[in-house]
Amino acid sequence: MGKKKNSKPARLPQSLALPCTGVESHAHLDLAPFSSDIQEVLERAKESGVRHICNVFLGHDAWKKSRHLFDGHDEVFFIMGTHPSHVDQCTDAELDAMRAAFAEDSRLRGVGEIGLDYYWDHFPREAQKEIFIKQLHLAKELDTRVIIHSRDAAEDTITILEAEGFVDYPVLWHCFGGNTELAERIVKNGWYLSIPGTVTYPKNEEAREALKVIPLDRMLVETDSPYLTPVPYRGKRNEPAYTVFTAECIAKELGMETEEIWTTCGNNAVRFFGL
Ligand SMILES: [Zn+2]
Repeated sequence: MGKKKNSKPARLPQSLALPCTGVESHAHLDLAPFSSDIQEVLERAKESGVRHICNVFLGHDAWKKSRHLFDGHDEVFFIMGTHPSHVDQCTDAELDAMRAAFAEDSRLRGVGEIGLDYYWDHFPREAQKEIFIKQLHLAKELDTRVIIHSRDAAEDTITILEAEGFVDYPVLWHCFGGNTELAERIVKNGWYLSIPGTVTYPKNEEAREALKVIPLDRMLVETDSPYLTPVPYRGKRNEPAYTVFTAECIAKELGMETEEIWTTCGNNAVRFFGL
């Protein structure tokens, strides 16, 4: 039998009626998919209970070009960094420009997303490591937080963070989708984990299982918009309002109320980013 086509429209994120206590900890709203309706996207997030949004700028140029999009939106704050898939852009001049940007814009709350990506492997691993370490040093110099991107590279990512003195430093492991063992190692080092919409996918049993070992004061939620859209909007463009569905899934898995997870993860983000 073929799958019955679901003609019912998906539930609106506002329909969960959550209080305005949640935080979307990772979105790329300056990218092209939001160029025509960013104001509506920000409005919908607010109506759905999102109190703050972290916009991720992939380098100094992106910040310079697009930070104005969020003028008048005090709920949006920023992080900035060179992604491991763009390490050729992280010259000494870029690091200087990032340093200056942090001095100029108090909305910048951390260096990220930085790390290692062995899935795409766009650059040799040694080059990725070198740029990762340079940006870790920048974060320490600026006394600001680190937001990690690590894909198929957990072992090397942890080794570098430990060697560079980042145990018990404010580190957020963005887009956590690993297993219980990895979650435990991250927690043991004093770091935070941000859970993306992929946790809602039926086959992602392992990631849901891992939720059980993450202390509730170390968990954040995110979308990674426009990517990784949770059920029931999977396959469509992602947006910050959809973090509510991720919180709902986590709550169900942990046998809690959605509102409790929503507010707890939101408070964790406020504390982590110093909002
Ligand atoms: Zn991202």
